[in-house]
Amino acid sequence: MSNTETQSILVVGSGITGITAAVEAAEAGYDVYVAEKNPYLGGRVAQLHQYFPKLCPPLCGLEINFRRIKQNPRIRVFTMAEVEKISGEDGNFDVTIKMNPRYVNEKCTACGRCAEVCTLEIDNSFNYGMNKMKAAYMPHDMAYPMRYMLDPLLVNSDEAQKVKEACPYDAIELDMTPKSLSLKVGAVVWATGWKPYDANKLDTYGFGEFSDVITNVMMERLASWSGPTQGKIVCPSDGRAPETVAFVQCAGSRDENHLPFCSGICCLASMKQATYVREQCPEAKVYIFYIDVRATDRLEAFYTKVKKDENIQFFKGKVAKITQDESGKGLTLRAEDTTAESLQEITVDLVVLATGMQPNTADSPIPFDVTYDDYGFVAAQEAKPGIYAAGCSRIPTNVSECVQDGTAAALKAIQSIVRR
Ligand SMILES: Cc1cc2nc3c(=O)[nH]c(=O)nc-3n(C[C@H](O)[C@H](O)[C@H](O)COP(=O)(O)OP(=O)(O)OC[C@H]3O[C@@H](n4cnc5c(N)ncnc54)[C@H](O)[C@@H]3O)c2cc1C
Repeated sequence: MSNTETQSILVVGSGITGITAAVEAAEAGYDVYVAEKNPYLGGRVAQLHQYFPKLCPPLCGLEINFRRIKQNPRIRVFTMAEVEKISGEDGNFDVTIKMNPRYVNEKCTACGRCAEVCTLEIDNSFNYGMNKMKAAYMPHDMAYPMRYMLDPLLVNSDEAQKVKEACPYDAIELDMTPKSLSLKVGAVVWATGWKPYDANKLDTYGFGEFSDVITNVMMERLASWSGPTQGKIVCPSDGRAPETVAFVQCAGSRDENHLPFCSGICCLASMKQATYVREQCPEAKVYIFYIDVRATDRLEAFYTKVKKDENIQFFKGKVAKITQDESGKGLTLRAEDTTAESLQEITVDLVVLATGMQPNTADSPIPFDVTYDDYGFVAAQEAKPGIYAAGCSRIPTNVSECVQDGTAAALKAIQSIVRR
């Protein structure tokens, strides 16, 4: 076994946490492998329109990190990759990675001819199913790596051969199959992040039944220039600009029947999204229904700023039920106003459910003997000697804390290698 191999670090997941861990470790002189399940790097922040509190576009920061990755020969990236097995110990792990087929090889120049001839359409998962896209597709406009992929439905359809022949670079391989890759690494950083809590489970809020009830992650895509409406915030039922919008905080969070914990970011995310609405629709009225406002440290200043807007009304009360008018347009929210101790009904055009963040480790645990908390987050930063959990696989939190946590995990991984 070569010494270089066991001095390398495997980072699993390439959201902001994993990317940070990878570039920090590589720039400190360590070889890094990145295994990412998606066909692109960046994780959930690639789907956000802006970041609170500065309201800057996440793709700027991601671009800088992608450049650091491209320029650093110490980093090897595997997309469509999932870790199947980890064995061994601190300083000497054997890892098996499953590489799923993309059906497009590295000869792809992103010319888009495959998509031009493809007529088969599938749900656009990057836009949370709010629109359709071709089954030969670029995962999103700023994707890294900038390479097309084919959906398995297309590969198994009558159109597959036509799409393959349209590629002038011989980049399409319809017979690509899953492959297995074995690595030896000295340490592992686990950064597989989160998924939105399933709003279909909130049976009194009408998600899935009323098309103008959406979730906070969908709102990010609606507001984004690369989203299903090219950045226009509209009511999905008929495409009109909403005059009134309600944000329902703790939609499933701090609730024993759903997610008993607070994700810590949903209040700030809704305040940020209220600014999206107010910027686009100057006359719009926004209601934020909350139990407690969680805006800690310097983020309090963002809360204070948003609260100053007279068209944004904070309403202390948990929404009990949402119903739709017979016309199929207005949505009425019933909530107890806990400050006035009265039952209130407010009718709006669009409702945004602020659903929380659930750890991906709850469904897809680390293939090693590791302890989790009651909610599925990895219980400790040092999951096991040599295996370090970071970002939202460890705690639900915001981007700046993920960056700090990713850096800390890289340092721990380096220390565990250096110790030997
Ligand atoms: C509506 C909403 C708005 C938000 N807005 C903001 C904001 O404005 N500012 C802010 O600071 N924070 C915001 N956040 C929080 C922010 O999204 C998170 O802090 C951030 O996404 C966490 O990054 P992460 O890398 O830990 O996880 P993720 O972004 O989830 O990345 C994890 C990566 O791991 C990959 N992965 C998962 N499982 C596997 C596996 N088994 N093998 C390989 N790869 C895997 C995933 O595909 C993904 O690429 C918001 C959250 C929500 C819900």
